[in-house]
Amino acid sequence: MIRINDNYVKLPESYLFSEIARRVATFRAANPTVDVISLGIGDVTRPLAPSVIDALHRAVDEQAAASTFRGYGPEQGYEFLRRTIIEHDFAPRGVQLSPDEVFISDGAKSDLGNFADILAADNVVALTDPVYPAYVDVNAMGGRAGRLTSEGWSGIIYLPCVAENSFIPQFPASRPDVIYLCYPNNPTGTTLDRRQLKQWVDYALENGSLILFDAAYEAFISRDEAPHSIYEIEGARRVAVEFRSFSKTAGFTGLRCGYTVVPKELKGYATAGEEVEVNKLWNRRQCTKFNGTAYIVQRAAEAIYSPQGRKEIRASVDYYLENARIIRENFLRMGMEVYGGVDAPYIWLRTPQGMGSWEFFDMMLDKYNVVVTPGVGFGPSGEGFVRLTAFGQRERIEEAMKRLVL
Ligand SMILES: *Cc1c(COP(=O)(O)O)cnc(C)c1O
Repeated sequence: MIRINDNYVKLPESYLFSEIARRVATFRAANPTVDVISLGIGDVTRPLAPSVIDALHRAVDEQAAASTFRGYGPEQGYEFLRRTIIEHDFAPRGVQLSPDEVFISDGAKSDLGNFADILAADNVVALTDPVYPAYVDVNAMGGRAGRLTSEGWSGIIYLPCVAENSFIPQFPASRPDVIYLCYPNNPTGTTLDRRQLKQWVDYALENGSLILFDAAYEAFISRDEAPHSIYEIEGARRVAVEFRSFSKTAGFTGLRCGYTVVPKELKGYATAGEEVEVNKLWNRRQCTKFNGTAYIVQRAAEAIYSPQGRKEIRASVDYYLENARIIRENFLRMGMEVYGGVDAPYIWLRTPQGMGSWEFFDMMLDKYNVVVTPGVGFGPSGEGFVRLTAFGQRERIEEAMKRLVL
């Protein structure tokens, strides 16, 4: 008899995007000639930057000659990329890291999921609500979520992020061991300023909690008050792991590359009380279960830091931010309640007249033929909101906005 991990049985089907697809397919079947525009996609649409394509071609050619061929690389990533990351993403912000604190991966989702491997199953996890669904599911798989009830998982502490608290999570009544924070945030598009993030770092220092900080949207920050890295905050090296991704920054959703920073000062504790460097554990885990990111992909990632590469990826990020501005300002002009869209490619829209997220989704599809993402799909506190993404093509977004004003 094959016994399975019971935690997987407790997981509900991932419902949000399949349900959206089902409703859109039903609508299309009934209205085959109608042009449906999606403002729901969470994927980039712009092609890779020319610098990235050039670097890929060069690296592919290296793989074709015995003298430059590369087989297995270091599990932690090539030093050329780790040093380049430190030099450009951290040093200019006053953050000193050493290459062995940076781990290259095939994307942030894998690392966010895998990191739970090195944490005890009885850690109490706190999450902002609404939230990127993977954080919840990973902890359910790891047996840290308890039972699924109508109010969410019994073992997880939800930190509501709603308009009433300006989407700033408040400290929970009881102390969590692990806290997931994602800023700029998916789905709300909001972010924390330095003072607000510092309060969470201080909280973690006082309570001995670990912050898993997802900075996948760091490149979209446009206001100076918002920190790009949690390590800009004093003391964060002792409490935080930071996850970064080239997916949204440089259109690597298909190419796959990201990295995780695990500072040496960060300590965990074994049941017997022994103090352990989390960096060592993560390194041990990666060396056992991961064999490195493709050489050609790491060369492609390196290319986004060249002067030309930086210009090119900046232009793409600015294109998406301009889309976000167009969407945001259109809804504001319509008198609607709109959040996000300034430091993030997401706009978080309050549904009018207390409509439910799905009710508003259906109305937008039927009346305007525009697809949005129901906020309740990201957690109970997302009810009454929808998420709009700015990752589409400009003309399509302008067309969608024109329909809404009519
Ligand atoms: C897109 C996204 C990521 C990045 O995932 P990759 O695996 O690097 O493509 C991470 N976190 C959040 C919140 C995201 O939306």
